[in-house]
Amino acid sequence: MRELNEKCAVVGVFGVDKAALIAHLGLYAMQHRGQEATGISAANGARIATIKDRGLVSRVYTDESLSKLPGCAAIGHNRYSTAGEDSILDAQPIFARYALGEIAIAHNGNFPNARAVRAKLIEDGAIFNTSLDTENLVHLIAKSHENKLQERILDTLSQCDGSYSLLFLSRTKLFAARDPRGFRPLSLAKLGDGYMIASETCAFDLAGAKFIRDIEPGEMVIFEEGKEPRSVNFAKEPIRKCIFEHIYFARPDSFLFGESVYAIRKELGRLLWEECKTNADMVIPVPDSSIPHAIGYAQASGLPFELGIIRNHYVGRTFIEPLQEIRDLKVKKKLSPVKELICGKRLVIVDDSIVRGTTSRQIVSLLREAGAKEIHMRIASPTITHCCFYGIDTPQQSELISHKMSVDQIREYLKADSLRFLSIDALRKAARCKGDFCLSCFDGEYYHDPANNSVSNAA
Ligand code: SF4
Repeated sequence: MRELNEKCAVVGVFGVDKAALIAHLGLYAMQHRGQEATGISAANGARIATIKDRGLVSRVYTDESLSKLPGCAAIGHNRYSTAGEDSILDAQPIFARYALGEIAIAHNGNFPNARAVRAKLIEDGAIFNTSLDTENLVHLIAKSHENKLQERILDTLSQCDGSYSLLFLSRTKLFAARDPRGFRPLSLAKLGDGYMIASETCAFDLAGAKFIRDIEPGEMVIFEEGKEPRSVNFAKEPIRKCIFEHIYFARPDSFLFGESVYAIRKELGRLLWEECKTNADMVIPVPDSSIPHAIGYAQASGLPFELGIIRNHYVGRTFIEPLQEIRDLKVKKKLSPVKELICGKRLVIVDDSIVRGTTSRQIVSLLREAGAKEIHMRIASPTITHCCFYGIDTPQQSELISHKMSVDQIREYLKADSLRFLSIDALRKAARCKGDFCLSCFDGEYYHDPANNSVSNAA
């Protein structure tokens, strides 16, 4: 159940006629990664044109607006934003003119050192339009003493430590870079005579592009007309791919970090059964994100899989509600139990994670009201005890229920008959982790000093 939010999706298209139209399809496929605002910049060799606005992809772009984005190169962005940061100014791509011409930038990730970098830039006279970490990049590129854009970008990245999948568009070139730890995904595909780059491979499927490979951590791929893409390996660090992409951020039909998201989610469910066997009448997912996990649990256990909770897909986005009562109503509007199915039954409810616990509590309450005899919550990830500083919107640590309560206290708070979380070892096993995944929100082991972080302005 979505209580954490991905910050963004990025898409790039190069060497393809009507590139903006293709970018729009990619953003459409990746709407789940950000619903607050969307934007596309397109380059036709002479200039860069940009359209961006608040709202969903289906609302923002029309045939007419896309026709105003001519050219064979484009980058696009879907943005999720936290309350108070939904200014249109914070929509991406960010566009700027500087000494070498025009540039547009789209970013998925977060720079923990962004505040310090921005403070120094302001001290040196820079003026900022947005609250985005990404705007630091514009200033650093503009200030760099290098003669070529490629060198200016590399100079800039050397000063910005953090998580990023970044696309830079000039009038004639496109640069796609992934941070040296590889936190956020970024993949490359072939489309006709050109190329497509996207946060998730589901974007390629909709556009008809053929997946080639992931862009490697610490790699920048440069696209230039008439030339094969060139690759530069600019930095090397221990790999820390975000394991939450596999748990629930990515779409299940995406192929991410070299694995099928759907297959890994089913494996999480299977291992959850191995670790937490339960006598029950049926297995029910919390829709939609936990369906593959619940299928894995049900298949391993031999228990019937049932859609005992129905999700209303037509509820408008109500965003982060400040009042608890409104949050509770939000869950009720979205999820509804199938009373005839669950009345008098012992239920295993499979969810992908618990963040604040308010949603899970409401779900248990709905099922009780519908007559469930027993409710056993099974969570296909370990307890989330720490905040994310690498591009995922988590609440303050004090709001994380697993930070302030033991598992048994959480069970009491939820009013469930039993509650079990997947172990970190099982999570590692399911993701085929060879020490190359980030687990910071579960184990609190950050690669940087969290006392010096900035999380509020992530992209
Ligand atoms: S802290 Fe958690 S959510 Fe953030 S990058 Fe690491 S695994 Fe992903």
